Parts: sequence; C-alpha cells; structure tokens
Amino acid sequence: MSNVKVRFAPSPTGMLHIGSARTALFNYLFARHNGGEYLLRIEDTDKARSTKEAEAEILASMNWLGLNADKEPVYQSKRELRHKEVVAQLLAENKAYHCYATKEELDELREAAIKNKQRFKYDNRWRERNPNEAPAGITPVVRIKAPLDGYTKFNDLVQGEIKVNNKEIEDFIILRSDGTPTYMLAVVVDDIDMAITHVIRGDDHLSNTPKQIILYNALIATCPEFAHIPLIYGADGKKMSKRHGATAASEYQELGYLPEAMRNYLLRLGFSHGDDEIISDADAISWFNFTNVGKSPARFDFKKLDNLNAHYLKHKNNDELMVFLAAQYPDLTELEKSRINKLLDEIKARAKNLIELKHAILFLRENFGERLTLTDKAQKDIAKLVDQQIKIIDFYKEIDSFKHDNLYEKTKIFAEQEDIKLKFIAAFLRAKLTGSHVSPSIFEIMELLEKDEVLKRLSM
Ligand code: GLU
Repeated sequence: MSNVKVRFAPSPTGMLHIGSARTALFNYLFARHNGGEYLLRIEDTDKARSTKEAEAEILASMNWLGLNADKEPVYQSKRELRHKEVVAQLLAENKAYHCYATKEELDELREAAIKNKQRFKYDNRWRERNPNEAPAGITPVVRIKAPLDGYTKFNDLVQGEIKVNNKEIEDFIILRSDGTPTYMLAVVVDDIDMAITHVIRGDDHLSNTPKQIILYNALIATCPEFAHIPLIYGADGKKMSKRHGATAASEYQELGYLPEAMRNYLLRLGFSHGDDEIISDADAISWFNFTNVGKSPARFDFKKLDNLNAHYLKHKNNDELMVFLAAQYPDLTELEKSRINKLLDEIKARAKNLIELKHAILFLRENFGERLTLTDKAQKDIAKLVDQQIKIIDFYKEIDSFKHDNLYEKTKIFAEQEDIKLKFIAAFLRAKLTGSHVSPSIFEIMELLEKDEVLKRLSM
C-alpha cells in the first residue's frame, strides 16, 4: 500500500449534495488509483446544525453510491480535547495569543473599513500586548500569529499556483470565546493526525487554504497536497440548486438512477479522458488524475445522465433487476415472475430508469386491469378502433396457435381483409394489453400472456 491517504469530510447538516458526492468519488478514485486509503471524517462540530439524521442520510447515500470509506469514520466533535491541546501548545510557543477585543471595538474597525472602502481586517491589537492589561469581564478568543509579510503559496493540483499576499490575511481566530475550536483549526489538526497526504475538496474551500497552510507551518507539520475541484452548476451557469432539479444524492436514488450511472456521470462532470463517455469503474480507477480535471465549473446535464443511466440499465444483470422488482412488489406471483423474466431484456432496454422499469412490468401482472392506468396516447389508440373491437376479439378467438409468428401472419391478413392499417391494430392491441403505447413486440406479448388472458384484456 502506498502512503496516499485521503479523506472525505462532510458536515452532517443536510443531505449529501450531488457536488459532495462527486468530491467523495474523486477522493475514492484517487485513493484507489494510488493504492492508498480513503477515509471519512464527519465534521460535526457545529452542534446547532449537525444532526444524526443527516449523518445517517449521508452514510446511506455513500453506501448506495458504492463509496463507503475504508475505515470507521472519525468524528471531529470527539476530538475537541485534542484541538484545545494544540491551541494550548500554540499559545505556549507564543505562536498564538489571547485577544480581548470587544464586539464594539471590532464593529468600529468594521465600520471604518467600510467607510474607507477597504476589506475589514482585524488590526492585531492584542498581538504584542501584555495579557496583564486584559480588561476584566471579557473572555478572550485565541488568534494565530499570521505572518506579517511575504506570501503564502501553494500549488493546487487542479487550480495551479495560488499565491496570497500575507498582508491580506489577518490573525484569524482558532479558539472562540466559548472555548470551542474553529473549523480552520480543527480541520488542520485532524488532517495532520490522520496523516492525510492529499486534501481533495470543493473549491469553495480554496480561500481557506492559505490560512490552513499558515497553521501547518506554525505546527511545523508537512502540508498535504491540495486539489480543489470546481463546483457543479446548473444548465444556466448558476450554482446547482433546487431550482435546477434534484440536488441530493438520495433524490437521484428515488428517481431510479443506478449508482454505476451516477458514478460515471459525476466523474465525467469535470473529468475527461479523450471522448470517452462510458467509463467503467475499472477504467475510472486506472485513468484518474488531476491533470484531466477541469478548472471551471461543470454544468449538470440531465439528458446526458439519462442516456448514461439507460445504458447501464440495459446492461444490468437480470437477476439483480429481479431482486429489485421483487422488493418493489412483494406479492409477485410465480407466473408473473416467469413472464417478467422472459421479457426483461426487452423491457430494460426501453426503460431510462428503475422507476420506468417498475411501471413497465405492470402489464405482466395478473389482475392487470385493476392495476393500470392507460396513457393518453393508449386511450386514443383504443378509441380509433373501438367500433371494430368485437370483430377483433372474434378474430383472435378463432386462432388456436398463439405463437408470435403465427399471430403476426394472421393479423397481417386480417388487417388487409378489413382494410385497417396493421399499425393501428398493433397500437390497439398494445393499448389494451399493456395500457401503454410503447412496449416490446406486441405479438410476443400475446404469446407470453396466452390466449385466455389476451381475450380477457381485449374485452375489458
Ligand atoms: N466539512 C467541510 C464541508 O463539508 C469540508 C472541509 C474539508 O474538506 O476540508 O464543506
């Protein structure tokens, strides 16, 4: 095993966003590509917003996507003592200090900055001041001594060289006045203690990175490599939100998408390998690198996802699909199962997702009439030949062999004799037998359902 260690670090404050799912995927692929370790850290220090339900949701979505971490999760909240210990160490080493500035003082600074059209920055007023001068009744925060000049630089594996003038970085807070460590501190301490070699995350964290590097330097720890991946946008180029459609991984699960299609799609959102659209898990692992990850935000394209999903559904193993259908319909009879098995190849090739598949097998169930609603188009197809209904039923009553080729030949002759277009008869039969205007070959369906059932449905 290589020494590559990555972590996915969601905050359990809501469902697993599709952008975070992609972050998890990139971490996973990078670890697998390098024979390294893929870890999970639950960043649950925001006690007001973190919930166990959200955590369970996130874990369930990761499981569904096949992105379970290699080890049990690390809980950031359980590491608070360690975070405080590091703050104490930084204070002892004079690399951090207590700041007693009051809210009023800070508000004053902020207002002055607004007036002068400058960005607000804490003015380091307690950096060198003697703590003996501390005013009574104020619980201080702890601030890091950020470098006063020079630059903080790093080479992001996706974004390239990032260089920030240290004059722009204030002595930021690492411990709040209520005694809780800040995210900035916790994330660095945890990444050091977990021996993380590569931090792969959304580029909304890019601006935090220089501050984190300052902490690595203060702690005399080696900085990991950073890879900040662009956010996902909707089709209109705005940050992906509810307006654009489903944003949580679990919603895609409910909509009937397959995890392998999601993985492929999320990989392609931002990563390219020539013109390849269909990328298997094995290829994804062997091809993954950051050179081929784009710097600019990718736009979510539902149509592309649908196409990929249809592709994976068509190639999905029938036994697995039968397990899915049996779970959807716990009362499936043996007859129904055998009918479904016979037509599954054709049905799955026509469905875009599992929900469509679930509905597409309804006509193979017994008591079909009670279970089905006709599509609008199917209703019209029936209406077209409603006057000929009796004649059509009588015609099939007379046919003994319900083999599909025989049915086809006989129906063709019947259509000619009656001067009705064959396609209208087929559409009528399809509507009556399946409730829909799309289905596998209607004569094969008639063979499968057998004569009694066909006549029953035609008479309904
Ligand atoms: N918990 C942070 C988030 O959910 C991630 C922090 C990180 O990856 O460094 O955005």
